[in-house]
Amino acid sequence: MAGRVKQTRTKTMIKFTGKTGLPRTTASLCPECGKVIKAVLKEKEGKVLMEKTCPDHGFFWDLISSSVDIYLRMEDYAHDGVGLENPYFTESARCPVTCGMCTLHKSHTSLALMDLTNRCNLKCPVCFANANAAGYIYEPSTEQLQFMMQSLRDQKPVPTVAIQFSGGEPTLSPHFLWAANKAHEMGFTQIQVATNGIRLANDPDFASQCVEHHLHTVYLQFDGLDDEIYKRVRGVPMLDIKKRAIENARNARSPSWAPEGSPRRPLSVMLVPTLVGGFNDHQVAPILEFAIDNLDTVRGINYQPVALTARIPDEDRHAMRYTQSDLVIELTNSGYFEKTDFFPVPSVAPISQLVSIIHGTPKLTMTAHPGCGVATFAFVRDRKVVPLARFMDINGFFESVEDLIEKFEDARFQRLRTTMSAAKMRSQMAKFFDFDHAPEGMTEKNVLRLVTNLFTEGNKAALSDFTWNTLYVGSMHFQDSYNYDIERLKRCVIHYTSPDGRIIPFCSYNSGPIYREEVEQKFSVPIAEWKENKRAAKTVTRLEVMGTEGEVITDAQAYIEASKSVQI
Ligand code: SF4
Ligand code: SF4
Repeated sequence: MAGRVKQTRTKTMIKFTGKTGLPRTTASLCPECGKVIKAVLKEKEGKVLMEKTCPDHGFFWDLISSSVDIYLRMEDYAHDGVGLENPYFTESARCPVTCGMCTLHKSHTSLALMDLTNRCNLKCPVCFANANAAGYIYEPSTEQLQFMMQSLRDQKPVPTVAIQFSGGEPTLSPHFLWAANKAHEMGFTQIQVATNGIRLANDPDFASQCVEHHLHTVYLQFDGLDDEIYKRVRGVPMLDIKKRAIENARNARSPSWAPEGSPRRPLSVMLVPTLVGGFNDHQVAPILEFAIDNLDTVRGINYQPVALTARIPDEDRHAMRYTQSDLVIELTNSGYFEKTDFFPVPSVAPISQLVSIIHGTPKLTMTAHPGCGVATFAFVRDRKVVPLARFMDINGFFESVEDLIEKFEDARFQRLRTTMSAAKMRSQMAKFFDFDHAPEGMTEKNVLRLVTNLFTEGNKAALSDFTWNTLYVGSMHFQDSYNYDIERLKRCVIHYTSPDGRIIPFCSYNSGPIYREEVEQKFSVPIAEWKENKRAAKTVTRLEVMGTEGEVITDAQAYIEASKSVQI
């Protein structure tokens, strides 16, 4: 943010255009037939419920939030995006059947997910994508992957900067390292993988190879600190695998391209627990403690309340339902946080808008619905945890940012826009910080850069002159057809890519209309045919065909054996 503020006007955010408050109506889906039906969101006994009636399948209700206060507070921070300048569908948009994106969609991509394969080295009963069950292999070619990445980079007004390789188990794809490298070449600045950690734990060189190929962060499936949980939900004990994966990430070698003398950095890990009510929700605090103890490598936690996509008897479904508010309450009970430390994803949109104006280019602006996700940041050293909101007047800061945006966009303040230096802006913002309660070493000089980076990029490198670790604690509650809210979907910021160039919101890809099935069937081959093609190859390893016969490999020796070439 050095130098003068640039003059170019950019717009990535507008005031929220959706309905707020309770009761209110929205559009949802019938969980039985998938028809779009009206739903009512209402307060009942301090909770927020969704109620809806399908003319053919009757009445359904679901818990949206276990605290009306937490739910309504999040709405105060809602902002909308400006949509896409170049959507795939330009006519007859109808949500949720014209995903691709369409003209109705309000947000650009904050994080793109790209499935590299539907093969996996586990057989989780709760999996979205599973080659064994599907009977076909979806494994895009390098040409298809490059085309998909290009469609993300071509998105306007904001080219996608964050990509996460997913699956199946993406590290089984023969193209995984190639894809990470290609993403870097194509200008993605956040390159991630969502993994169960088996390869990372068992292949001692894999973490270094990831770093060498520009991978930044491992999103590690992490359902708790009790092997009974893994046995039930993943089919095998996995705690040791998770710990070994983190250890290997910690010990990753510096890449050959790192400037000489630069410090070695571990491969960053984000823990990703799927939370199921009455099953592993008691693990929220232990997972937090585990993260605090491993902050040299673990950047944070992204808790995911389970999306109940399978057919489940009503009584069980209500018991398994876990909401954002449950999480906020549980984290508050941990003693480290207060409820007001948590903010919804779109709360940071004004900061991105301001940065866009200052830089003269539209920047990534996260305008998800306030019901989709919450997050907080804290600084940690020697197990002392200082949440950002304890020494920062976040509401005052947000208001001041919005005020500056208004001024910068007003022609009468043209002079201000051209004369306000970044240093002056920094000192104006510094008044929102209580340096007496800030972590030691936080100064006026670094505070704005620090906060801007946290909110817009989550980039730990920005903190190189500051010795406290940062801890991100957030969540994303993916939807299922019981709690489906099309107003949330239209604002979705997490998008899948398809080999035909479409970009599809997560919650319509995996639930509701379930575009996953359509995309995979269109671009996949039957398992037998796929194996025949592999046989034609000169050499093939068991890893390259793993996941086609339901095999599970978790121990290191078996994994190394599987890396060797075999005849199939
Ligand atoms: S979810 Fe978005 S892209 Fe899909 S149909 Fe609705 S508005 Fe269009
Ligand atoms: S993935 Fe689902 S929960 Fe997340 S932003 Fe998109 S619509 Fe909301």
